[in-house]
Amino acid sequence: MIGAGLVGLASALWLQKAGHRVTVIDREPPLAGASYKQACSYGNACTIAPHSVMPVATPGIAWRVPGMLANPLGPLAIVWRYLPHLAPWLRAFVASSSKDEVERIATVLSGLLMQADAGWRPLVHEAGAKALERRHGCLYLYKTEAQFQAAEPEMLFRERHGVALERLDPAAIRDLEPNLAPLYCRGVLFRDAYTFSSPKLLAFALAVVIGERGGTFVDGDASGLEMTEAGVRLRAGDEKLAADHAVVAAGAWSGTLASQIGDRVLIDTERGYHVLFPSAGCLLMRPVCYPEHGFYMTPMADGLRAAGTVELGGLSAPSNAGRTAMIRRGVEALLPGAGEGTSEWLGFRPSMPDSLPVIGNSPTSPNVTYAFGHGHLGLTLAGITGRLVADLVSKRKPSIDLTPFRSQRFSHFGASR
Ligand SMILES: Cc1cc2nc3c(=O)[nH]c(=O)nc-3n(C[C@H](O)[C@H](O)[C@H](O)COP(=O)(O)OP(=O)(O)OC[C@H]3O[C@@H](n4cnc5c(N)ncnc54)[C@H](O)[C@@H]3O)c2cc1C
Repeated sequence: MIGAGLVGLASALWLQKAGHRVTVIDREPPLAGASYKQACSYGNACTIAPHSVMPVATPGIAWRVPGMLANPLGPLAIVWRYLPHLAPWLRAFVASSSKDEVERIATVLSGLLMQADAGWRPLVHEAGAKALERRHGCLYLYKTEAQFQAAEPEMLFRERHGVALERLDPAAIRDLEPNLAPLYCRGVLFRDAYTFSSPKLLAFALAVVIGERGGTFVDGDASGLEMTEAGVRLRAGDEKLAADHAVVAAGAWSGTLASQIGDRVLIDTERGYHVLFPSAGCLLMRPVCYPEHGFYMTPMADGLRAAGTVELGGLSAPSNAGRTAMIRRGVEALLPGAGEGTSEWLGFRPSMPDSLPVIGNSPTSPNVTYAFGHGHLGLTLAGITGRLVADLVSKRKPSIDLTPFRSQRFSHFGASR
């Protein structure tokens, strides 16, 4: 297993449950003393989000690109210097935004999302992590009736794709979340959503149980992935490793590993930020999102985490303090009493242009399986992805058709980096 983010860890545990011996390689595995902050799985908005059936690219996105270039502090922004690298990905992103494509993608995504909880439950139970779960739904809020009405077609779209939602008036919102500033006119509650109070603790709990079942962790940078007659080999730091099968679950860095065995995958990153407000953890019961601000405010073990926004800018550009300042200003206005935001974090969502992950065997190397590219939904979909990976490696028929998740689906757009 290359990668000990939540997708890699969930896959490792499902593989063990299917009888496989597993070695997990990561630059910083979630073991005692590790910060784990390099993994996108560390810093997300903690939400299992079965309501997220809409891809990021929706009809009309092409017209919004110039605005995204002009405003680096908008909820969706592009770092203009990165534009030449991003061009093939961006073309595929725009091509995925047609009405027909969005309908197809949502159908595929909702099929996967319906199994998200079933994919997690056995793992959470076996890792003894049930206490991290908080099942109170997720709230979307709108400041004006016009904004709420503008979101109505999207809500009808979600309902058509099987999402259960409840429309709320201000009194119902106040009952649910009395500490919010009354800056809302209408809201929507997604009851089936839930959170883990600490994705980091979840990862550490999974790593412990993987270790107890005989799994080993190797601390190192994996490189030199290649096929052999018996399977695969690679380097991890100074160590040389061989196995009969490799799973690439290296998040936003997976494209580099795939290219080592000759597969070109059009993956890039949607950078996201969070700010932690340590004294505000008790102010909300559930994740609250004003879509116009582009971030969730999620109560968690360490306080309140305000996490989100999208910045298309690659893996190496420095973090943009203006974006976290924007999140801080938003929280100050929406949740008086949140106090001071202390730590800030930049993370790299592993993103495919169509918001669907890559889950499947390498087209060139039968002993390599891919599990990456989960974009905004990697926490939500890690469990079911792991189960599908175990099916593939065990040569069992997966519970859903994996054709829409094949790695080479954008090969006609050119390669990324
Ligand atoms: C601000 C923000 C909010 C989010 N909120 C949510 C949410 O509420 N719900 C949700 O479902 N999703 C959310 N997400 C998305 C989710 O966090 C990601 O999709 C998910 O964490 C991806 O998991 P992963 O295991 O694929 O990748 P990662 O967690 O990034 O793990 C990849 C691992 O691979 C390792 N690695 C990479 N290359 C190598 C190499 N060559 N050798 C060794 N190790 C390597 C890395 O060190 C890393 O540990 C959010 C993301 C962001 C940024």
